[in-house]
Order: sequence, then C-alpha cells, then structure tokens
Amino acid sequence: MSWDILRWGTNCGLRVADQAGVLKRLRTQSSPIVLMYHGIPRRKPSAIGITAVDRDAFARHMRYLKHNFRIVHPDDFQHYSQPPSSKGKPSVVLTFDDGFANNARIVRPILEELQIAALFFVSTRHLEPGRYLWFIHARALFTLWPGNRIQLLGRTWKLGLPAERQQALWAFMKETRSASIEEIYRGLSYYPVEAFVAPEVIEEELRGMSETEVAAISKSHMIVIGSHTCNHPYLTVCTTSQLAEEILGAKATLDGICGRAITTFAYPAGDYDVRVASAITRAGFALAFAVNPHTQVTEAGMAIPRTGIYAAGLGILAAKSYGLFSGYYRSQQLTVKPQSVTAVAALDTATVTESRSSTKELVP
Ligand SMILES: [Zn+2]
Repeated sequence: MSWDILRWGTNCGLRVADQAGVLKRLRTQSSPIVLMYHGIPRRKPSAIGITAVDRDAFARHMRYLKHNFRIVHPDDFQHYSQPPSSKGKPSVVLTFDDGFANNARIVRPILEELQIAALFFVSTRHLEPGRYLWFIHARALFTLWPGNRIQLLGRTWKLGLPAERQQALWAFMKETRSASIEEIYRGLSYYPVEAFVAPEVIEEELRGMSETEVAAISKSHMIVIGSHTCNHPYLTVCTTSQLAEEILGAKATLDGICGRAITTFAYPAGDYDVRVASAITRAGFALAFAVNPHTQVTEAGMAIPRTGIYAAGLGILAAKSYGLFSGYYRSQQLTVKPQSVTAVAALDTATVTESRSSTKELVP
C-alpha cells in the first residue's frame, strides 16, 4: 500500500472519529497543545520536495481550529490552563519555525483575517537578501542541481534520478549532525542558490523574511516574534562561544528590529540538552520550545513539547490538536526511546514518511 493511500485512510478515519466527538473525549492535557508549522508555500507540489501544507489547506486548517479550539495568544500561554474535563473548547497555540518569507506573504494575512494569534520563530541569517538557511539550500541543491555530482563535507555526492537524489539528501542530512555549521555553509557557498534555482522558486520556498517584513509583523497584536538562532545549527554540537553567538547574536538582532525584548525561543531541529537550555535561560528567554522533549531540564518552560503539522488532512490535524500524540510523550516523562517514537509515529502517517528514513531532521 502506498504511503499516500495509508495517509488518506488514516485521515478519513480520524475525521469521522472527530465528527463523532471521539477525539475530543480522549484529550487529557490541561495546558494548550502547541502546533508547529514551517513554511507555507502557495501551492503544491513543492519544486524542492518540501513536505508542507499549502495555502488553501492552511486556510482550511485555520478555519477548522478557529471553529473548534480556543487559540491562545502566545503572551498568555505560560499561565493558561484548562481542566481536561472542561466543557469549553480545548486550547492550542500556533507556532511557525524558521521565518520564511511565505510566513509574511501567505500566513500573516490569513491569521489576521481570522484574528488568530501565533508565534513566528525567526532565524536571523536569512534576513539579509541572498542568504539562505543551510537545510533549505541543501534540499534545493540535491533536488535541482543540473550536474550529476556535488562536493560537500569532504565527499562526493552522486545525483541521479529523483529517488537517488532523495537518498543522497537523507545521507547528507545525517552527516550534518556531526559537521560544524561553518563547514556546512562553506561547502554550500560553492553552489549559489541563484545559479540553479528559478527566481519564483526562491521567492516561494527559499527566501527568508526581510528585516522590514519582520519589523512590520512585530507591530501586529496577533503575532509574536521569537528567536530561532542566527544560522540554525544543531545547538548541542556548538562550542561555548558558538552557542553564545547563535543565542545572543540573534536575540540582539531581533530585539533591535522589533523594538522590544524577545522572550521566546525554539530549538532548531528540536536539538537541545541541559547545557543549551541553561544558556537559553541565562540569555533572558522565558520560554523555549522543543519538538518531542527527550532530555529533562531543570529550568521550567525550557523544553515545551510541540506537534509538527505536515499534512493537509483535517482528521490528522484534529488528532494532533487534541493531543493524541503529545500525551504519549508526556506520559513517558521525557524518557522516550527511539523505537517507541517510531511506534507512535506509525499512527501518524504524515510522520511515517519521515520516520521510515530515520531523518526527522529533514524538517527542522
Ligand atoms: Zn527550524
């Protein structure tokens, strides 16, 4: 059975269960479920193979959430709690990672039209025109490079048919876990994005928000800007000085653009440990968002779980928004074993396509 059919069947089943009120009764969490989106392209399919919700599906998601959930403003998140047995609408918080330009062009107007509050986590590197985050640059390179090989991280990567290119990209992403962020960007600099990606694809899928766009958004009462480092590195492999630069440098830039102190942070690729969480606390952040928390940290609010949304179906969105998956991670008290994660992910066919390749980092 193809993954698309499995996803479709799962979504239909969950949609029926949601309409019958079954999913709502399974909710046990009192704090809001935090949903995580990334870029929202205008339409699918993505030219560079991104797994994401497109504009029309995103608008459907927002209308569904607005109708069925209380969408908590990020400023109220810390103190918001609702008894699981409450008869009112269950609560969610919306977050968007990375700071792609389509967050300003596509997401913002939909949120403002529906009066929905959200958190935008911005990496500052791509505020500057012509600079791109490494993982999106790499994805474009492995997908669209016209030649049949490239050199990165000290080795040659053969690029053949689309499936081979995808395999090569997965292998490359695995290797980036142990490479320095400077080495990754240095290697990519030999393949400038403008040399092989069409301008409309750059605009649609690769470009980051400009300083002007972030400044304008920060004035909205509905959207709060948070930090996502400068260069989107794996923070746990950063040296102490790199860590300081990534955390404090991005904060100073965003504080300046927004004209106020930024107090929320999201770990790139959900990668954190005790040392990283302490550095985030010392830098003055009040809340830090992870994905599936895997390490106990001493500071409160420094490893908030989130649930990624990658598929269009409202059934899957409903199940995630009612916390069917986040409840599992909480019950494991932050000691989730990799095989257990895979078992849960098997329920989530949107995530299966990622977990079967063991490269959840493909969607940082
Ligand atoms: Zn990210």
